[in-house]
Amino acid sequence: MPSKSTRTGSCHCGAVTFEVTVPEPTFTICHCAMCRKLSAGPLMSVHGEGDIRFTKETGMTWYRSSDWAERGFCGQCGTSLFWRLTDPTTPMLEISLEALDEIDDMTLERHIYIDAKPDRYEFKDDKPRITEAELLKELGMTPPD
Ligand SMILES: [Zn+2]
Ligand SMILES: [Zn+2]
Repeated sequence: MPSKSTRTGSCHCGAVTFEVTVPEPTFTICHCAMCRKLSAGPLMSVHGEGDIRFTKETGMTWYRSSDWAERGFCGQCGTSLFWRLTDPTTPMLEISLEALDEIDDMTLERHIYIDAKPDRYEFKDDKPRITEAELLKELGMTPPD
C-alpha cells in the first residue's frame, strides 16, 4: 500500500485551510530555539511534497525567520502552519503536525536539533536524536557561522 497521501489542514479560526501531499505518515520534532520560540514549544512537523494548495488563505501570513527559510502562520489566530525553504532550487516544506486534520496514523520518526534542546523537558520515546550538524550534513547544507 502506498504511504503517500493527501491531507487537509487548517488554522484554529479557519481563515486558512489547505491541502498538502504527504509522502510518509511520520513526523519529526525540532528542538531548535527558533522553532521553540515561534511555535511556543518544540515543533512537531510533517514533511510535505510539492506546493501547498490553499482552499482558503485570507489569514495566510509569511514571516522570513532566517536567511534561508520562512514560516507561515495565520495572521488572525496565530496558528503555526508551515516552514519552508525560500530558495526555489531546493524546495522543502514542513507542515505543523497538529494543523492537519487526520493524524492518528502518524508516528514519530526522529528528533532534530537535539543539541539545542534545553534540559527542562524530555521526551520518553527511543527514536533517533540528531544534532544540527548531523542534519545539515544530511541535507548537504553548510552550517551557519
Ligand atoms: Zn486562523
Ligand atoms: Zn527548528
